[in-house]
Amino acid sequence: MAAKKKAPAKKAAAKKAAANKAPAKKAAAKKKAPAKKAPAKKTAAKKAPAKKVAAKKSAKQIPFVDYLVLGDRPYLRAQECKNCGARFFDRRNACASCFGTDFKNARVKSAGIVTSYSIVTVGPQPFVSAIVDCGGTSVRCTLVGVEPTPDHVSLGMKVKLTTYSMGKDAAGVEAIGFGFAPA
Ligand SMILES: [Zn+2]
Repeated sequence: MAAKKKAPAKKAAAKKAAANKAPAKKAAAKKKAPAKKAPAKKTAAKKAPAKKVAAKKSAKQIPFVDYLVLGDRPYLRAQECKNCGARFFDRRNACASCFGTDFKNARVKSAGIVTSYSIVTVGPQPFVSAIVDCGGTSVRCTLVGVEPTPDHVSLGMKVKLTTYSMGKDAAGVEAIGFGFAPA
C-alpha cells in the first residue's frame, strides 16, 4: 500500500517537473551540478582560468633535459642525421657515424624494450639504470615504477616512457624528468 501511494506521488512530482521545470531542469541537470553555485560567475571565470592554466603549464614546467618534449603526450626528440639516420640526444656539430652535419628532429617511439640494465646501489636509494630500445633508437634512462631487484627487471622487458616531477624551485618552476616504466 505504501508503495502504491508513493508511486503516484512520484509520478505527480515527475509530471509537475515535466510540466514546469523539466525543460530547464533537464537541460541544466547535468551541467547544473558544476555550474550550480554561480553559473554567471563561472562562465565568466571559466574562460579566464582556462587560458591562465595553459599559460601556467608552459611557464611553470620545464623538461629536465632538452630532448624531453612536454605536453599532453610527452615524448623524446632525437637529432637525426639526414645523411645516415643515426640518432643522438644531445646537440651535435657532426654525426659520429658519417660526419654529416645536417640534422633533423625525430620523434622517438615511447614504447620500448630493455636491452641492458644495471641495478645501482650506490647512493641513498637503489635504482635501475637501463638502455631501452625504442623502435631502433637506444635511450639511456632510469626505470621507474619497478622494484630495483633482478627479480623484477629483465632483458626484453616491455616498457614505456613516463614523466615525473623532480621538484620545484623557489619561483615555483617545476622540473619534469622522464623514465621508463613497465608497459
Ligand atoms: Zn650520419
